[in-house]
Amino acid sequence: MEVTASRQNEIELDLLRGIMRSYRMLPLLYPAVAFAIAFFVKSTYPAIVVFAWLAVFLATQIDYAIFQHRFFASEPEAAAQANWTRRCAWRYFAMNMVWIGVVPLFWNPASDIQNLSLLLMMVVHVVTTSMTASSRRPLYYAATLPTAAMAVIGPVFTGPPIFTAMGLSFAVTYLYLARIAHQSRETAEDALALRFRNDDLITALAAANCDSEAARLRAELANAELFRREEWFRAVVENVFDAILVTNENNIVTYASPSVRLIGLRMEDMIGRSVLSFLPPQEAARIEPQLRNDGDRLQPEELLEFHIEAPTGRVHWFEASISDLRADPNIGGFVINLRDITSRKRGEAELLGQFRVLKALAAGAQMEEAMMLLARAAEEANPGARAAVYLIDDEKKLGLCAAPSFPDSFAASAERYWELRKNDPFGGVMEENGQRYINEDMLAPHNHPMIVGFAKEHGVRSLWFQGIVSRTGCGVGAVALYLPQPRQPSTWERAHLLGIAHLAGIAIERKRAEQDLREAMETAEMASRAKSKFLANMSHELRTPLNAIIGFSEIMRDGLFGALGSPRYSEYAKDIHDSGTHLLSVIDDILDISKIEAGRYPLEEQDLDLAEVLEWSIEIVRPRTNEKKQNVSLVVPEDLPPLCADMRAMRQIMLNLLSNASKFTPDRGRIEVAVRVNGNGNVELTVSDTGIGIPAEKLDEVMEPFRQVDDSTARQHGGTGLGLPITKSLAELHGGTFHLDSVLGEGTVATLILPAYRLQKTLQKVGA
Ligand code: ATP
Ligand code: MG
Repeated sequence: MEVTASRQNEIELDLLRGIMRSYRMLPLLYPAVAFAIAFFVKSTYPAIVVFAWLAVFLATQIDYAIFQHRFFASEPEAAAQANWTRRCAWRYFAMNMVWIGVVPLFWNPASDIQNLSLLLMMVVHVVTTSMTASSRRPLYYAATLPTAAMAVIGPVFTGPPIFTAMGLSFAVTYLYLARIAHQSRETAEDALALRFRNDDLITALAAANCDSEAARLRAELANAELFRREEWFRAVVENVFDAILVTNENNIVTYASPSVRLIGLRMEDMIGRSVLSFLPPQEAARIEPQLRNDGDRLQPEELLEFHIEAPTGRVHWFEASISDLRADPNIGGFVINLRDITSRKRGEAELLGQFRVLKALAAGAQMEEAMMLLARAAEEANPGARAAVYLIDDEKKLGLCAAPSFPDSFAASAERYWELRKNDPFGGVMEENGQRYINEDMLAPHNHPMIVGFAKEHGVRSLWFQGIVSRTGCGVGAVALYLPQPRQPSTWERAHLLGIAHLAGIAIERKRAEQDLREAMETAEMASRAKSKFLANMSHELRTPLNAIIGFSEIMRDGLFGALGSPRYSEYAKDIHDSGTHLLSVIDDILDISKIEAGRYPLEEQDLDLAEVLEWSIEIVRPRTNEKKQNVSLVVPEDLPPLCADMRAMRQIMLNLLSNASKFTPDRGRIEVAVRVNGNGNVELTVSDTGIGIPAEKLDEVMEPFRQVDDSTARQHGGTGLGLPITKSLAELHGGTFHLDSVLGEGTVATLILPAYRLQKTLQKVGA
């Protein structure tokens, strides 16, 4: 067995400590024995010698006592054991050497007993020391060798033959004792080594135990942490709004988070089934390639949209992101994150549907077409449902307008159905304006057999019916959704139904308003045509006799066939002629304005010299202006190009404006006619006067037919109030504008603006 040097030192120190511990009382015991011998045994030497021996003996004992005190007090290191052993051995040897002095000192040739006793003391010493100090060889020999030598030499050389024999036998005994001491030393060393090893083993075991306890605690902590994290993850997964499915590589569901209840399914129902088995067949076919076990990895950002019909019959739209974790040993399949996007989808479908309906309405679609789109929009927002729109006719009867997903026979059976409902509580729905009627299960036994028959014929179970109400609160129709399963509408579905009904209400009202407008316009057009025709006929009918009146009264006035009997007749003839002429101009004006209004005033455009037209017009009104001594001036740019316009219209405009200027300007007033080409190249023609002016608030009014500033002026100046409207209309017919500016009491400026192209066109012509 290998023992390291340090361990050997420890063992030897321990043995040294054992020996010294058994000799703890030695410094007391031996002096006591020595004193007893010195005082009670007779020596052949003088007392001084005995005392000297005793003193030396005591000195060795005291030295040993001090030594042993130091040893135990200092708790020596194992490494110092050799030094301590050596010092101890020397002390034992010294004490022994002094001790054996007792034999020669007290040897008494006269007393064999005394001598024998001395020798026995030596033997006893050797034997006891063999028993107590055998475990350390140096100490053993230091403590026994001198005594044993004395026990052998003493009797052999000094005593009778029996002594000699005893000495020799003791020599043999000592050898034997030394042998036994050697063996017991080896045993002690082995025992100690074994103890130390046991200690090591125990220490190691304790350490290992300690380690394993720490490891167990660590494992427990880690376990608790793992459990806590698992609980945390579970809480997160189970409480997120999204549903999470985990499948194996064959798409069999191995985990479903509790949120799958959103689909109306239970976790335990899903586990162990193929994920595709929950999809409608066409959706499954669409998704299946994405989940096929072809080794291609899916991109997690690819979102799939599909719908599922829950056991309740409700259709849910989902958005799924599929993570391919087939390579991950923890999952070995797919992780599918499902998000319910039903509201979004429905909202989108609703918006799109509304947009289509409104677009169609804006594009002037017919009522049937608009209602058809509306019904389709309702169906798209409620997958699985079929929609119909009914309208109430003038006889308050509900009639089918659109049912895109029903066969043609539906109209007839719907009519029979409503006929039946006419008198039951639902019949009042339309009167109560916009109420909702829900028949959750049309096959339920309490329904009329005809309703059951209707439901069976068209494969429907529930009817959600929402009245359509106009803005004025009248029931104008109804939107109906027919569903294949018996169920109540959700809050969203009720709101949606109401929304469709509102939209339908708007559409119906708009279509009806359009129709009313069209009818009104047709009536107005007819009236207008009749009026124009009447005016044209009437003016023709009036003009023929009027021309005769004017012609004959002129002949009479002028006395063409001889003088009239009385001067009064010629005066009357003049009045008849004047009145006739005035009437003719009024009729002409009326005819003109009605022609313009009816759009039947054809412009005969030609290049005219505007200055010439103006001069002609001024000459025409000259008699009146001269009569009132009014000053008429004309300013026309010399290089004014010819104007492309209707000669008659231009003359009529000028005559109207000049006659107004003259009529409403007092005697000696000024009238100025001016033409200029303004900054835009337009022709600007103004007729200004210094007359009575027009109040600002009447400026617009006088542009309308038969409107004059006030009746008194009308009476004073005559006229019918048609001049300005005709002027304005003729200006507009030429693509121009006409307006008045006036300051009451100071004068009026009438401005006619004709577009630049009327000059340019002519210029181009000239150029060409
Ligand atoms: P008609 O021209 O049919 O013979 P009228 O001259 O009264 O009749 P308009 O030419 O349309 O009709 O003019 C309408 C009214 O505008 C006139 O009655 C008058 O009150 C007012 N008015 C028109 N021109 C002037 C003007 N230059 N100064 C003051 N008032 C004017
Ligand atoms: Mg006039």
